[in-house]
Amino acid sequence: MKESAAWAACLSGLTVFYRWRNRNRLAILMYHGVEQHPLRPDCWHVLDVEVFRRQLDYVRRHFRILPLEEALARLESGTLPQRAAALTFDDGTRNLATCAAPVLREFDLPAAVFLTTGPMGTDEALWPDRLWLAFARTECIDIDLTSIDLGMRSLSTVADRGATYAAVLERCKELPDQERLAQVESLVTALGPDTVDDPGPFRMLSWQEAREMGGDGLVTLYPHTVTHPILSCCSDDKIEREVADSCAAVQRETGTAPGVFAYPNGRSRDFDERARAALRRCGLRWALVTENGYADASSDPLALPRIPIGSGSSFARFRILVSGATEARERSGSGRSMRNPMPKTLS
Ligand SMILES: [Zn+2]
Repeated sequence: MKESAAWAACLSGLTVFYRWRNRNRLAILMYHGVEQHPLRPDCWHVLDVEVFRRQLDYVRRHFRILPLEEALARLESGTLPQRAAALTFDDGTRNLATCAAPVLREFDLPAAVFLTTGPMGTDEALWPDRLWLAFARTECIDIDLTSIDLGMRSLSTVADRGATYAAVLERCKELPDQERLAQVESLVTALGPDTVDDPGPFRMLSWQEAREMGGDGLVTLYPHTVTHPILSCCSDDKIEREVADSCAAVQRETGTAPGVFAYPNGRSRDFDERARAALRRCGLRWALVTENGYADASSDPLALPRIPIGSGSSFARFRILVSGATEARERSGSGRSMRNPMPKTLS
């Protein structure tokens, strides 16, 4: 949709209509990182703080923002207030403490942060972010990607780097787990190992920073695996470790057993029944995906849709997105629902 068409849609009342139509459903907004300035090349999952602030100001005026777990419990019990929304942040980069949390505090808005627990407090970035760092900082002017069917790619402009990073990222998500890890390391080696020495905008929170962020009760911490793999590409053992160890870390560091999980990458093909079974064994009641949609009483509690917010959305497009007007109408048809969830003992 063109920008002028997006504004025309907003002015026509489309967003008002869809917010009204979805008033008895739950909007779970999905953010990742928030930085002081936009990244170059662009990175979909990092917003600059002024854009983020404007979006939250809009959301607080048009929705009733609840803590995530309260919203999910009320959705399940049929007591969700109208126009309910919850805010979530995936991965757990340090900029959540420095850039996002001050805005949450300013507006007094609760939020859930899903932590990838492995690299917390280290100089290591998550694997997708290692790729971004390597492509953003390399001195190479081109790269041979024939081994992953992407041919020879130029890296001479910022746009080239951004496009190649995005193509490589998507290709890596499709690889078996060990192959993905090896491919990322080989690309980082080719582009310059020193490119990833400083994680920059992808530095992860330490546990102390994470706990401090949650100190005033607005931010609640939840698990998002240990190393952010695509769970459906992993062995049974690795799925178990990634889920159980991240849940244990959150419980150890916060003193509370987590009730909600977010799948890394989170498309329906990124997790399977093995992952769901691992979640149930850890006592998790709900899990969030990254696919676009409102959650409601018919949603599968272990595959709740969210509204993904990225840096590519103008303010008009953001308004359309959060209204639910672009929601995929297809449903999984799993037969489970929030009002009739599958018993936790089944797997
Ligand atoms: Zn993630």
